Amino acid sequence: MNIILLGAPGAGKGTQARVLVDGNGMVQLSTGDMLRAARNSGTEMGRRVAAIMDAGKLVTDEVVIGLIAEQLEADHGDHDGGFIFDGFPRTLAQADALGALLDARGLHLAAVVELRVDDEALVERVTGRFTCGNCGEVYHDITRPTKVEGTCDVCGSHDLKRRADDNADSLRQRLLEYYKKTSPLIGYYHAKGKLRVVDGLQPVATVTKAVDLALQG
Ligand code: ADP
Ligand code: AMP
Repeated sequence: MNIILLGAPGAGKGTQARVLVDGNGMVQLSTGDMLRAARNSGTEMGRRVAAIMDAGKLVTDEVVIGLIAEQLEADHGDHDGGFIFDGFPRTLAQADALGALLDARGLHLAAVVELRVDDEALVERVTGRFTCGNCGEVYHDITRPTKVEGTCDVCGSHDLKRRADDNADSLRQRLLEYYKKTSPLIGYYHAKGKLRVVDGLQPVATVTKAVDLALQG
């Protein structure tokens, strides 16, 4: 099953994607993770997008569509589940491009799950977020701290990181971009009969149950 997780920055897309990967053998395709990896490995593209990401703006459609196309091409179908698109598409042009990429591979988009969270909660979520640089586990200072301070619960790594763009200023810009360019996708996928809305304000495990239910319906 191929699905899109849609929602504002901090809505819980990455957190839920990891649960779906573990539980259903799905593959998470996060353009944010791909762009951060490009930055960390010092590629030309990574250097070009760094300032745009830190400012909370969207990188160009061409770049992110290219990243997703590469990943889909590299896939050999050697996994049980389908793809979880996390943080992509973020514009109508990206949504059209994804439709064409899936069609070209004979793949079907099963559902678009919108995780709905209000702006106040997003500020708290984003400013408290940290992740494991080794395995990608997502934590939060208050709602999901590590069991042992400074050590990842999943892989034991001490490489816990905060994102450069997880500050109140950048979040304001990212929210503006979300409402201006990404939220029209809610109507777009509703019109296609694909949209499922989940209350993302509930605790992680409750959201997971609601997502499962939404995917069955
Ligand atoms: P996104 O991928 O949508 O930007 P994340 O999954 O990284 O969001 O979550 C943002 C922050 O909020 C993280 O610190 C995460 O631990 C926390 N978080 C995610 N889901 C919930 C939830 N349902 N309740 C409370 N905190 C959550
Ligand atoms: P995320 O990890 O999804 O919060 O993305 C972090 C940043 O990467 C965003 O603020 C954008 O600058 C950039 N980015 C990620 N995905 C996309 C996308 N689909 N389109 C444009 N920019 C993106």
